[in-house]
Amino acid sequence: MNINENYLNLKDSYLFALVAKKVSEYKAQKPGKEIISLGIGDVTLPLAPAVITAMGDAVAEMGRGATFRGYGEYQGYMFLREAICGYYGKKDVHLDKSEIFIGDGAKSDLGNILDIFSTDNTVLIPDPVYPVYVDTNIMAGRKIIYMNGNTENEFLPLPDSGIKAGIIYLCSPNNPTGAVYDKDRLKLWVDYALENDAVILFDSAYEAFVRDRELPTSIYQIEGAKRCAIEFCSLSKTAGFTGVRCGYTVVPNELTRGGVPLNELWLRRQTTKFNGVSYIVQRGAEAAFSAGGYAQIKESIDYYMENARLIAEALKALGIWFAGGENSPYIWLRCPDGMSSWEYFDTLLTRANVVGTPGAGFGANGEGFFRLTAFGDRDDVKKALDRIRNI
Ligand code: PLP
Repeated sequence: MNINENYLNLKDSYLFALVAKKVSEYKAQKPGKEIISLGIGDVTLPLAPAVITAMGDAVAEMGRGATFRGYGEYQGYMFLREAICGYYGKKDVHLDKSEIFIGDGAKSDLGNILDIFSTDNTVLIPDPVYPVYVDTNIMAGRKIIYMNGNTENEFLPLPDSGIKAGIIYLCSPNNPTGAVYDKDRLKLWVDYALENDAVILFDSAYEAFVRDRELPTSIYQIEGAKRCAIEFCSLSKTAGFTGVRCGYTVVPNELTRGGVPLNELWLRRQTTKFNGVSYIVQRGAEAAFSAGGYAQIKESIDYYMENARLIAEALKALGIWFAGGENSPYIWLRCPDGMSSWEYFDTLLTRANVVGTPGAGFGANGEGFFRLTAFGDRDDVKKALDRIRNI
């Protein structure tokens, strides 16, 4: 038996482990200190009442012989795919139910989609970005070219006609920088992908946090994108489903390469390796897209975005450069006084008892930057900001 040696090329996923280790060491040294985390990338508010009711009803259905259900549809129940089509309709994006695939979250599908692409494709990945894109391609042994995100391009890298790649990852709003592509810049990517027969993997996990109505929340709001892009989205941050698990992937019927519809390949992959998301969860997800449910989940999003506004306001007053926070739950700041990401982490931890995430953990271009998130409790956010002001 030979192992997949590509795994040996992966770097240890040390970022959050090292953060946790440093925090617990500090707590052991200074017992009684109250540490506040603005580093958390997980939601903290409970599920919306409409979601709970729908899941409760679904549990009851599963307990009665007349309404019990076994295996569901591979692509997801029609009621949920219809609800998602309706959600896209409000964005002026018209999808067919056959183009939507329900899954257990964006992370799984972002990794699994690579099954349908040859390993000899070169991959373009922004730096800094969500580390899953890099690791899943290293596992498959693909060649990766990094696209530099920096303050000059507002952490929104643009295509370079001299670089050829088959697969392109875009994350908008971006984790960790909070940067969002506008329609003009996204169009440049769509044009590049069409010219080069490339496929864009568009991660819109944070689309529900976009406030500016001029900014795109789906790549399909760009002309031509259905011929070159697959979109990944999730109810994790939108509806607090990080522990419930439900997401969806859109593979347009128009998207073909080498004469083969990618929708058919992905359907074949899913029917072979995946047996669907539970009925109970899909009923909960459907409720999140209902008028009443969406109003409730919006309240949670508004709560987080008010946290983001408070963080942004404090950084502005302190004269610290930052991006994000207006259309995303992430705030990406430049470490003050030329500190490295980890130096600033230690400073905040030991002097303010506040935890954030060092930017260097998201790629080489993250060095010297730092990520704060808006997913915490309001009073904790206010307290943490007071402490940051004091140091
Ligand atoms: N994409 C991005 C950019 C993320 O930040 C995350 C989670 O943090 C995911 C995808 C994965 O989300 P899910 O919980 O749907 O797997």
